[in-house]
Amino acid sequence: MFHERSGYHFFSVGRIDVFVSMWYLILMAFIIFQPFGGGVEGGPQIAEGILYAAAVTVALLVHEFGHALVSRRQGLGPSILLHGFGGLCFHEPAETDGKDAIVVAAGPAAGFLLAVATYGVLQIPALQASMPLQTFLQGLLWVSLVWNAINVFLPIWPLDGGKLFHLLLRRGIDESDARDATLRASIATTLLAVFGLYALTGTFSLFITILAFFIVMSNWRALQSGQPLVRRRSDAGEPDDFQVDKIEEAEAALESGDFDEAYRLCHQLRSTGGRLTEEIRDEVWRILAISATEIGRCDEAKSYFERAPQTKEIQRAREKCEQNAAD
Ligand SMILES: [Zn+2]
Repeated sequence: MFHERSGYHFFSVGRIDVFVSMWYLILMAFIIFQPFGGGVEGGPQIAEGILYAAAVTVALLVHEFGHALVSRRQGLGPSILLHGFGGLCFHEPAETDGKDAIVVAAGPAAGFLLAVATYGVLQIPALQASMPLQTFLQGLLWVSLVWNAINVFLPIWPLDGGKLFHLLLRRGIDESDARDATLRASIATTLLAVFGLYALTGTFSLFITILAFFIVMSNWRALQSGQPLVRRRSDAGEPDDFQVDKIEEAEAALESGDFDEAYRLCHQLRSTGGRLTEEIRDEVWRILAISATEIGRCDEAKSYFERAPQTKEIQRAREKCEQNAAD
């Protein structure tokens, strides 16, 4: 849901393409016609809705262009999609966590700058005579403040706060632990924020409920899949000697039928091997899946079956575990 790239081409600025998904048009229709907000009186309220829709669009674009301009500077070929839950900036993975953090922070930073600028413009006396302009600017101020604050201060994945939280965790623990902690914190924060909001204000929002539902579901799926949350360009680089030695020892142990040793070496590699290349990581999951099956740790093996490259060998190990469970 969060990674569909499909959309209609909207416009391009400075080699950055902006796309709009059908869901964004539906969101705009909701804002303009306020089907649940009592917009029955027609005329003036629809005009107001159009101004709010324009304010939301400008606020989202400024936020996403914050990400896009910084990632373009890093040569990451960004593009932007406006979709049903806001905006997305697609780009190639940054080289390092530090550079990634700068790209992530640039969105909310641009959003808060917009809020400050809008507040300044609202103080100009000459502009206060125009009601439509006032409505637009106040909408812009409100949306840019609230949206950027939610985005950056709550550790919800895949919002910017969740991304920064994940990058922070990666400074201390390895990716698989950082990923699990990030996704669990994201689910907990989303549920707390939504129920907290409803409890405190006594209101109910269909939009927020649907948004929270999709966040929790996508977090849950990501947690089950075991895929890393970020990829680095350097992930494709050369593994270091320690990693190569350990994985070769583990392969030899597996080959000779010493499953305990193969299992032990892979866990050692995961806990002390630093950042693993994708290739070595896949090999670790494969060896763990087979060795855990052979030493009777089928419960543990289940998660490795999901993470390992799907081969006949893995399929056989999976069937063996299912057979054992059935017996
Ligand atoms: Zn963002």
